[in-house]
Amino acid sequence: MIYNTIQKEIAYKIEEESKLSNWKDWKWQIKNSIRTLEKFEYLTGIKFEEKERADLEKTFKKFPLSITPYYLSLIDKQNYKNDPVFKQSFGSKEELITRPSELADPLSEDKDSPVEGITHRYPDRVLFHVSNICGMYCRHCTRKRKVGDVDFVPSKDQLSEGIEYIKNTPQVRDVLLSGGDPFMLPDDKIDWLLSEIKKTPHVEIIRIGTRIPVVLPYRVTDNLVSILKKYQPLWINTHFNHPKEITASSKESLAKLADGGFPLGNQSVLLADVNDCPRIMRSLLHKLVQNRVRPYYLYQCDLSEGLSHFRTPIGKGIEIMESLIGHTSGFARPTYVIDAPGGGGKIPVMPNYIISWSTNKVVLRNYEGVITTYKEPDSYEPKMCNRDCDNCDLELNLDERDESAAIGIEKLLSDSCDTISLIPGDNERLQRRNGNA
Ligand SMILES: *Cc1c(COP(=O)(O)O)cnc(C)c1O
Repeated sequence: MIYNTIQKEIAYKIEEESKLSNWKDWKWQIKNSIRTLEKFEYLTGIKFEEKERADLEKTFKKFPLSITPYYLSLIDKQNYKNDPVFKQSFGSKEELITRPSELADPLSEDKDSPVEGITHRYPDRVLFHVSNICGMYCRHCTRKRKVGDVDFVPSKDQLSEGIEYIKNTPQVRDVLLSGGDPFMLPDDKIDWLLSEIKKTPHVEIIRIGTRIPVVLPYRVTDNLVSILKKYQPLWINTHFNHPKEITASSKESLAKLADGGFPLGNQSVLLADVNDCPRIMRSLLHKLVQNRVRPYYLYQCDLSEGLSHFRTPIGKGIEIMESLIGHTSGFARPTYVIDAPGGGGKIPVMPNYIISWSTNKVVLRNYEGVITTYKEPDSYEPKMCNRDCDNCDLELNLDERDESAAIGIEKLLSDSCDTISLIPGDNERLQRRNGNA
């Protein structure tokens, strides 16, 4: 049975004559989302003191509140101050503190935006913001700058600019729909949008980033799944942060998506006092894989405004990765990444496993602390690569070969390029050489 007594109590408080069948209607959940302090207090029975209320009102004025009745029902009222669901959804006066290192747009998503709605950061894929509505407003949102913009469903015209950009940019083989939450769009809009993107021959896969299975699992309807099925290969990434969020309802929504044939991934954010604990993280990851969700990324919390109380040192993330690698199934562990401030993209970090290196031996350590050596081959003839694949005796499927030139560190390692160093644009020593200093 999906309903519990807390859910019944909330449902009846919302509508005297509310039939419990409404609970699973996702539109009813949105219509009755908790957007004011009064409603939160009324539905949970939690009461805040006068001073606290004033601070909270100030916070919600800057960063609005919106919690679905479903997500609200997961809060432990007796111990709400420590509750991970409460902390992710309710907010606190700390959000009004902006530290000097924090930025409204730390990842420069708006700067790397060739047209409205698109962030084109990596060579072969784009992020497409297709909605500015979310089921629940996460207090740790990296796009907090946009939360509280008036909720609107973008018109076809507004989305068309992004679609045109994708159509006119042949390098784009992977389109990541995000927002807001793409699943907050109506079914027909999702159908139309996916069909437009799918028409583009160079787009090989579409991905959807969504928190719907966590905060509004009833949105995953049979009709939605049947629409999505038309646009395979479609990858879906969700955002569970705590094992408590894996409930009967969220499991049901994940099962629908997995049965629909979509590979499921999860992106968590490392959050102080929510999931910054190896045991909590491991429990979350195990529950995810039991529900056919492959942990994808664990994010270091971004330098967005008002998130300082959520941030941990990077050492906490490395400690968590140390507790996972080797200790549990390889496919149960995410890649821990720091999204580089300024728009450099995601940088993976993990503990060091290489201890030392000679010309023919590498010394490594494993997760138990056992130190081992790997003897490298005595003779290895590296194949000289000048990127002339036609005259190479390794066989590549020539029709589909990737013609892109090496960039970045890849270029430094490449035989086919004379570059020996990558130099920051403002390097004074080289500016002197050019007489520009
Ligand atoms: C995260 C992200 C992507 C996708 O990166 P992957 O590592 O391929 O998952 C693409 N564009 C932007 C702007 C991103 O932030």
